[in-house]
Amino acid sequence: MSVVIHNGTHTTVAGFSQIDMPGLVCSSSYMKKRDGSLVFALDEILEGPEAPVYTIMTSEGVPYDWEALEAQWRWIVESQLGAKLEETPLVVTVAPDLSPETKSQYLDMALGRLKVPVFQMVVEPLAVSLSLGRNTALVVDIGAAKATVTPILEGNVASGAAVRSRFAGDFLDFKVYEALKDEIAPVHSTDSGPTEEQQVPSYAAWLNSHTWIQQFKAYMLQASPSKLREMDSATIDILGLNSVKNFLYKKQKTISLTQKQCCQITEGIFQPSSASTEFSDGEGLSEIVAKSVKKAGASAQTSSAANATSAEQVHTALLTNIIITGSSSLIAGLEQRIVNDLSYQFPQYKLSSFANPLVLDRKLQSWHGGVTMANMPSWDLGDWVSLKDYESNAH
Ligand code: ATP
Repeated sequence: MSVVIHNGTHTTVAGFSQIDMPGLVCSSSYMKKRDGSLVFALDEILEGPEAPVYTIMTSEGVPYDWEALEAQWRWIVESQLGAKLEETPLVVTVAPDLSPETKSQYLDMALGRLKVPVFQMVVEPLAVSLSLGRNTALVVDIGAAKATVTPILEGNVASGAAVRSRFAGDFLDFKVYEALKDEIAPVHSTDSGPTEEQQVPSYAAWLNSHTWIQQFKAYMLQASPSKLREMDSATIDILGLNSVKNFLYKKQKTISLTQKQCCQITEGIFQPSSASTEFSDGEGLSEIVAKSVKKAGASAQTSSAANATSAEQVHTALLTNIIITGSSSLIAGLEQRIVNDLSYQFPQYKLSSFANPLVLDRKLQSWHGGVTMANMPSWDLGDWVSLKDYESNAH
């Protein structure tokens, strides 16, 4: 039985490949206590006392704090799942465009230092696509530090056509905080706890984003069906966007916003320039999806010039197999907005998208992808590296 670990930029999910549900979901950040010990458990970080919080992954989804990652994997496998590293095959999900250096850092850690008997790195969007029974798909993953679009063609990752943007969940955290900071200020001034200035800044930011900001995003945010700035007031009225929604902030203050204001916050990931003129709309979510489809089509055309229809075939194959995943995609109306925007860009194509309707399944989709790869019926189908192979290559 293998252990499967998915390290997102925000959330880490881990468990055994033969069990449907993961044994553990925790933050991908850790808290460093005064005595120098590292805390990985979500509840323990939430409980405090506050201390600096650090992230393990870069915003591209690549580890940069390898020591902390090693400590986190030991904690997950040995103290949380109760397995022995030297006896447990390990599968981890990784970004599609991993450099050879990062790959060998993963191997050195898993096989060289943790001494697992066999290890496999599975490419996250490929695993998601195969776990949903598709070997061709356009995987749109809207996570925390990034939104990533990856075309999968006949079981191969078209990594040259993958496109990423930084406008995703973390960006929305910032936008929500900005939008509400004046309203929540009076609550802080009556709080008996430390003021924002006295707090450890990295802890305060982590705590906000894992508590009320996350709740606010889940209950309040929504995406408008098309570009908000192009909607006239009659359309806004017909869509009911003038109606008011209420959010109870820290059980102390009710914050009321119209649905239009809620859409306005989300609009930043579709039209980054609406948040700041420094941002380009070319990095907006629907734009990067369209860009990825076009790139995949163009590279198909150059790779088989004899077949003039291949670009169109690639467009058709991808646009009828759009998979929308990542927890930030749970925002109401977001899937429909992507499809609506794409239908403007590709009017001649039929579009079809799939997003797991179950909240928990959508949140665990990448981990389930890793489980599917770990459970491939034959070892040859996976990209396993054994400790023996690793050691003989090293010498
Ligand atoms: P990445 O894909 O960047 O590596 P990850 O896999 O850790 O990150 P996810 O778990 O897919 O990221 O998404 C985390 C983000 O989703 C966070 O910003 C979190 O606040 C946000 N989020 C979680 N639940 C919801 C929800 N119901 N509605 C909106 N946003 C949500």
